[in-house]
Amino acid sequence: MSDYDFDLFVIGAGSGGVRASRVAAAHGAKVAVAEEYRVGGTCVIRGCVPKKLLIYGAHFAEDLKDARRFGWNVPDCGFEWKVLRDNVLAEVDRLEGLYKNTLESHKVEMIPERATITGPHSVKLSGGREVTAKYILISTGAWPVVPDLEGAEHGITSNEAFHLEDAPKRIVIVGGGYIANEFAGIFHQLGSHVTIVNRSSVLLRGYDEQIRDRLLQISTMKGIQFRFNAEMERIEKNADGTLCIHFKSGDPIPCDTVMFATGRKPHVEGLGLESADVELDDKGAIKVDEYSRTSCESIYAVGDVTDRLQLTPVAIREGHAFADTVFGDNPRTVDYACVPSAVFSHPPLAGVGLTEAQAKNKLGTVKVYTSDFRPMKNVLAGRDERALYKMVVDATTNRVVGLHMIGPDAPEILQAAAIAVKAGLTKQQFDDTVALHPSMAEELVLLK
Ligand SMILES: Cc1cc2nc3c(=O)[nH]c(=O)nc-3n(C[C@H](O)[C@H](O)[C@H](O)COP(=O)(O)OP(=O)(O)OC[C@H]3O[C@@H](n4cnc5c(N)ncnc54)[C@H](O)[C@@H]3O)c2cc1C
Repeated sequence: MSDYDFDLFVIGAGSGGVRASRVAAAHGAKVAVAEEYRVGGTCVIRGCVPKKLLIYGAHFAEDLKDARRFGWNVPDCGFEWKVLRDNVLAEVDRLEGLYKNTLESHKVEMIPERATITGPHSVKLSGGREVTAKYILISTGAWPVVPDLEGAEHGITSNEAFHLEDAPKRIVIVGGGYIANEFAGIFHQLGSHVTIVNRSSVLLRGYDEQIRDRLLQISTMKGIQFRFNAEMERIEKNADGTLCIHFKSGDPIPCDTVMFATGRKPHVEGLGLESADVELDDKGAIKVDEYSRTSCESIYAVGDVTDRLQLTPVAIREGHAFADTVFGDNPRTVDYACVPSAVFSHPPLAGVGLTEAQAKNKLGTVKVYTSDFRPMKNVLAGRDERALYKMVVDATTNRVVGLHMIGPDAPEILQAAAIAVKAGLTKQQFDDTVALHPSMAEELVLLK
């Protein structure tokens, strides 16, 4: 008989928490998971999945127009936000059900309550019950940051964007990261007038500069407006419900909705970390070692709350490695090298490995190959939008150290190519592969 109620108590049933619970239970552990909102976490409920479905929905605006050039008689089509929104939310409900089934079939006890740590082995639930566990896993994710600004309460974050009553006529999106650019693409395609307001002059920090510049150029061409180096002063709500953003300098911007996409901070507030001496780093993330163990021996943390790489597949891997390490007698760490990522903007972009600037800093001499082309489909559609593929190669070893692209289906193509970059293949090995013609991806083996 164990001295504890559970072998493992997981706080947060998101990407990392669900995977860790399921795998630990499969290894024979007695597991409980507390979730204060909905099973599935950010990715399934208000992140990757509903966002991608909105992106699919939004893309029809261009597809329907292009279809005419391909011979289809497309009448002027109307769009109903509520139909898309409700269908997306119904799909989210379905997926939440699947996640619950998985936990149930692994005999994981699901507790729909907020949990707070009260000691190295104890947790208090919002309903009042206190439980003990040999190990505790913190997988509470991250939470949108809203700037401290007069009138900020009139704005929304991505959390609320999925539930809007209507697609806004005029939306201002504050921020320059992937969430800002993705929602800018969505709302623009759905007919909103979109302005991105950014504190600096840089969009999508961390992605290759040429690729980012191309997105800015295409977005501007499509009609998305940008205001860079903008310092907001306050948001005013007018009597008719519309908003007006005032800046420290420059003209105010009137709009109907303001959406903050100004970063996500580790979700640790009120979690009781001090009761178990769980330490945070200087950015407020839970400090962990390579096995995801915190400064308290019996407490581990995975996913966004540790702010290593805020991506779903990373949280899932961390949760899986934790469960194998602690309950599967198979100590495993996660390899963070060459993790591919994408921005599902219009058009999407994706990258893996080092950007040109990073490679120059790290390796000294690099060779860069680019292909700047108009995809065949865009040519026939009369769409003046060019794709850009870029390969960064270590000049000494000829190994491909980075691959970056913007254009239709870039994330789909990059996922496959990332295997080759991760495997350390050389430019020559790319070139040795015969092109698959006609495709956009063939550019990868034809770079000169
Ligand atoms: C709009 C948006 C789009 C995104 N798109 C992508 C994408 O395209 N690709 C990608 O890889 N990633 C994307 N992400 C990021 C991705 O969603 C996260 O990296 C991932 O969900 C992190 O998983 P996690 O397990 O760390 O936390 P989460 O999935 O956030 O789960 C944490 C859970 O803990 C619960 N919780 C918190 N505190 C408590 C408590 N005290 N008690 C009980 N429960 C608690 C929360 O309710 C939540 O359900 C996106 C995020 C957002 C916001």
